[in-house]
Amino acid sequence: MRFGFHISIEGGFENVVERAKYLGCETLQVFTASNKQWRRTPLEQDKVKRFRAQRIKASLEPLVVHLFYLPNLATPDTKMRRRSCRALWAELERSQTLGAEFLVLHPGAFKKSDANQGIERVIGSLNQIISSTNGNDVKILLENTTGGGTRLGSSFEELARIIAGVTSVTGVTGIEGYVTGVGVCLDTAHAFQAGYPIHTKEGLEETLDEFDRLIGLSRLCLLHLNDSKTPFASRNDRHWHIGEGEMGMEAFERIINHPRLKHLPAIMETPTAEEDNLKNMATVKRLRGKN
Ligand SMILES: [Zn+2]
Ligand SMILES: [Zn+2]
Repeated sequence: MRFGFHISIEGGFENVVERAKYLGCETLQVFTASNKQWRRTPLEQDKVKRFRAQRIKASLEPLVVHLFYLPNLATPDTKMRRRSCRALWAELERSQTLGAEFLVLHPGAFKKSDANQGIERVIGSLNQIISSTNGNDVKILLENTTGGGTRLGSSFEELARIIAGVTSVTGVTGIEGYVTGVGVCLDTAHAFQAGYPIHTKEGLEETLDEFDRLIGLSRLCLLHLNDSKTPFASRNDRHWHIGEGEMGMEAFERIINHPRLKHLPAIMETPTAEEDNLKNMATVKRLRGKN
């Protein structure tokens, strides 16, 4: 398993690789601009060029972009959904420019409608966006969520339905390679908070079997490796330091070394104090080394 963190782009992309190296990263995740604003200033060519070269030299692989928090592909608000689709399309372009392999997003919230309608809207949005990209090979990954409220994606069933809907346009648009490429990012804390018992030995096996049956483990491209501050099935999304939360150290030792997971890149989204994250990185590398 390759480990990395979500790295801040504060001060510009020229600081990102140094920051990642300092923390001992082997892979990394970024936002391409503020995560709480719609506004995207264009990426500066020379800075991007330098960033790409630095990233390759530091062997940080893969590069993951996380979509910012405002777009919602499931919303019944037509204007908002159109804005969200445009934003995701633009973010795919920015991800490509940065040389990213993956773009991670949450499926969205269905608000004042129902889950089925929400799922249909996510499918429609993704098909529309994908069919209007041109030569973009950044892979879209849907992330499982904690659930709660009207947020979609806390069950493997919902993710599977979305993926099936997106994949079904294969052959119609003639961009097969891209469409079949929609994958999944599994967040360990979100799964635990949503009620998947991945903290126990048997629970992890059952959860992976269920994932494989409904979605297919071949679609699993990335882990978000986070412990949980909140209890099992709490539906409350609070990340915590590896091994120090409700999931515990043994859970992470099993996950990191699991034969069906250990080939994956894993991004930690633990609370961001530097000394804590140096410790988190030391912890996961120690757990990896044990088996
Ligand atoms: Zn996550
Ligand atoms: Zn989270």
